[in-house]
Amino acid sequence: MSEPVSAHEAEQIRSKLDDVAERVRAASEASKHVDRVQILLATKTQPASKIRVALEHGFTLIGENRVQELNEKFDDLADIPHETHLIGPLQRNKVNHTLGQASCIQSIDSMKLATKIHNRLELLDQTVEAFVQVNTSREDTKSGVAPEQLGELLTEIAPLERIRLRGLMTIGLPGSTEAEVRPSYADLRNLRDTHLDSGLLPEHATELSMGMSNDFELAIAEGATMVRIGSSVFGARA
Ligand SMILES: *Cc1c(COP(=O)(O)O)cnc(C)c1O
Repeated sequence: MSEPVSAHEAEQIRSKLDDVAERVRAASEASKHVDRVQILLATKTQPASKIRVALEHGFTLIGENRVQELNEKFDDLADIPHETHLIGPLQRNKVNHTLGQASCIQSIDSMKLATKIHNRLELLDQTVEAFVQVNTSREDTKSGVAPEQLGELLTEIAPLERIRLRGLMTIGLPGSTEAEVRPSYADLRNLRDTHLDSGLLPEHATELSMGMSNDFELAIAEGATMVRIGSSVFGARA
């Protein structure tokens, strides 16, 4: 069990959730590229007790970065309805520990990983939702497939029918200026539109997971359908 949350802390979390929800609503109303935006709470390093406050406040979607953390919190939160996505890099030897606990993997960026996931799904006779992660910032250190290799990867993944693609995900450039951040989000939208047109993205795979605490309003302006929010709800990470 994780440490309890004080009444004051819980109230703070609820008030920040309300604030974020209102800002997301306003940004999506103002956006030319999107109507409805889902909020995923990025819960890495946060104890299950704090996550529970958010789930009890009506939020239903959380994202974990590390498989081990996902596994550790799974039982603590099993009694409250919600959905968990894996939003961090997935090593192939962790695939077995992920399927069954994450309903969606947002970090597919290679055919090797997709194949490993698909083979495991065959054994389990299950499916999983997924996003292909694209490295729109073009930093070598970032995970994600290079934009110019996305078409090839989508072609390879297409026959893997147990992987249900929902769209594309990117991290962008955290902490950078608007002038730097916006183009990487516009890039992801353009990649989606291009690959929907070409048929390499299936027609239902229209989602764009992009934007974090510092820049989610810009991401929504550029068409984010899902923003991933951590620190502006739970505070700075330890
Ligand atoms: C931590 C994290 C977020 C949220 O970042 P904040 O700045 O805390 O909102 C979003 N996406 C990914 C992949 C993350 O690792």
